[in-house]
Amino acid sequence: MSTRPVSLKVIALGEYGVGKTSLFYQFIHDKFDNGSLTIHDDAVKKEVVVDGRNVILKIYDIFQVERFGSIGLSFYWKMDVCILVYDVTSPKSFDKLEYWRDEFLRQNKPPVPKHFPFFVIGNKTDLEESRAVSSRKAEEWCESKGNTTHFEISAKDNVIVKQVFLDIIRTVLRRKAIKSDDGQQVVKIQADAKPNRIMCWS
Ligand code: GDP
Ligand code: MG
Repeated sequence: MSTRPVSLKVIALGEYGVGKTSLFYQFIHDKFDNGSLTIHDDAVKKEVVVDGRNVILKIYDIFQVERFGSIGLSFYWKMDVCILVYDVTSPKSFDKLEYWRDEFLRQNKPPVPKHFPFFVIGNKTDLEESRAVSSRKAEEWCESKGNTTHFEISAKDNVIVKQVFLDIIRTVLRRKAIKSDDGQQVVKIQADAKPNRIMCWS
């Protein structure tokens, strides 16, 4: 059954080099591309089907957000969810999450900040031997904030990247109180969602 698609806006914040672009690239293109691949200055779209519902994910991977420490207010406007990314081998990138979270809340101004959903993503678990941020430490930080979900992933090895986005989408859909038409719990992220389904958003 086709339904009108629902649009969700997601932004990723975090230090330079933690893997924000790689995370999105893996999700959108199903591959890892080494190097600095900021997708766009603006949003790109990815269409997926989750719980029988058509979803258009508008992904904001802002060019050089790290360099300026902040981005224009317009970029933050009415985001549905914020992803905070750190590198599990870099304690500094983890320590900066507090800054990015505050910056997001300051700019996006959700009506009830403590109810706003954040996803904290520890990337580069393939470099386990160089790990410098324990899962426990990250989980404790997330618990102290409330409404914050923690995942550890590898954008490089495509470890649970899809699951992260699935959880993000479900969380936002729940918040928007949008129910699946048939009430089914079956989840389907289209395996054939190819790059040609991505359009630049102008
Ligand atoms: P951004 O600045 O946060 O957008 O980070 P990028 O996505 O540009 O990635 C920065 C660097 O980290 C690049 O050299 C990537 O190839 C590398 N990188 C990204 N994700 C991973 C990962 O999961 N594992 C490893 N080993 N390297 C990664
Ligand atoms: Mg980038």
